[in-house]
Amino acid sequence: MTRVLVIGGGIAGTTTALALDKAGFEVAVHEAHPDSAEDLGAFLTLASNGMRALAQIDASAAVTALGFPLTSMRVLDDTGKELAQAPLGEAGDPLLRYRCLRRGDLNSGLQAEATRRGIAVHHGNRLTSVQENGAGVTAHFADGSTATAEVLIGADGLNSTVRQAIAPDARPVYAGQRVFYGYTGAASTSDGGARITMVRGSEAAFGFAVSPDGETYWFARVADDPLPAEATDQGTPAGWRELLLPALRKDATPAADIVAATGDDVLVTNATELPPGTPWRSGRVLLLGDAAHAASPATGQGASMAMEDAVILAKSLRDAPDTDSALSVYEELRRPRVEHNITVSGNISRGTHSTSPAARSGAPARPGEDELVRLLEWDASIR
Ligand SMILES: Cc1cc2nc3c(=O)[nH]c(=O)nc-3n(C[C@H](O)[C@H](O)[C@H](O)COP(=O)(O)OP(=O)(O)OC[C@H]3O[C@@H](n4cnc5c(N)ncnc54)[C@H](O)[C@@H]3O)c2cc1C
Repeated sequence: MTRVLVIGGGIAGTTTALALDKAGFEVAVHEAHPDSAEDLGAFLTLASNGMRALAQIDASAAVTALGFPLTSMRVLDDTGKELAQAPLGEAGDPLLRYRCLRRGDLNSGLQAEATRRGIAVHHGNRLTSVQENGAGVTAHFADGSTATAEVLIGADGLNSTVRQAIAPDARPVYAGQRVFYGYTGAASTSDGGARITMVRGSEAAFGFAVSPDGETYWFARVADDPLPAEATDQGTPAGWRELLLPALRKDATPAADIVAATGDDVLVTNATELPPGTPWRSGRVLLLGDAAHAASPATGQGASMAMEDAVILAKSLRDAPDTDSALSVYEELRRPRVEHNITVSGNISRGTHSTSPAARSGAPARPGEDELVRLLEWDASIR
């Protein structure tokens, strides 16, 4: 049985492990963090394409147990006027509809599912280097231990150590926006009903959804210079609120009141992307998820793309005659779609995207959707 090492137990790594396990490979995940609850503060939205990928590897239940569904989206302008309202993705299908959830919960849920299936998930195992020899790959970890396999998957995120090893010149770049996000139970937003509201503010793109418990999840994207590392490290929630509020107070929308009602649950990050053309592969080592194709968060597709990666990689390794051709097929199938997402999302973040209303309002880019459904279909051959 082919043995596969997955470096990184985040969304990409754990989903990849579930898919490889289903395809019959012997897989082990090595995650740097000592537990699964990293990044509890952040939330994300899984789109129908990501939920479809999860369904193909029988992981829907592990995720629909978390967070809450989103079935429609409305768009407001800077005066608060409603511009559009529409169903979101595959709203009618309980397994495929969008889901809003905390990233830490998603990681924990996927890791628990992997453990339940008997997949080895090693915590506190930080990869430091990768060594390839003719028939295999050896991973070296910070604690001095090693692991060897026929294939190594780098799912270690934006600042990937595996990418450093195979493409040392590839670097994430700033995508033109600061991203704020937070939660509050104190906002007087009566916008339940599984709806996400996107606000085209005069200075910020704002979005919010209210959970069934009455908690408002919100984000804001503001075009500006990148925040320096010392500011993101040392900033306080009150400081982030005060930095953001002037851009929101100019508009007659619910955004400013929601942010003003938020306590300590405010976070900020710089939108970052990996330029298209970043190498993904060296011999038996392959990058996927953010390690390969991190995009700015504007389209909200990073996690869903990682889930697509997982299923299509497992099918490629399952169906291709050998590892080399499997990894080539995988890259050929994935690169156009994920790089389209990097470009569209980056253009939205930089304010240079001017085509469809759907893209402007933050909905995912969907090139080749029929082909994607076929590629994800577990029982269909990858070719
Ligand atoms: C502000 C913001 C909002 C976003 N909103 C959305 C959204 O709404 N919808 C969406 O789909 N996507 C969203 N994204 C993108 C999404 O979060 C990422 O695409 C997704 O988390 C990528 O998953 P990943 O597993 O590739 O990387 P990560 O989630 O970064 O996981 C990488 C894992 O590798 C581990 N690791 C790192 N280095 C090592 C090492 N040396 N050895 C071992 N392990 C290591 C890390 O500890 C981590 O667990 C957003 C991103 C941002 C920044």
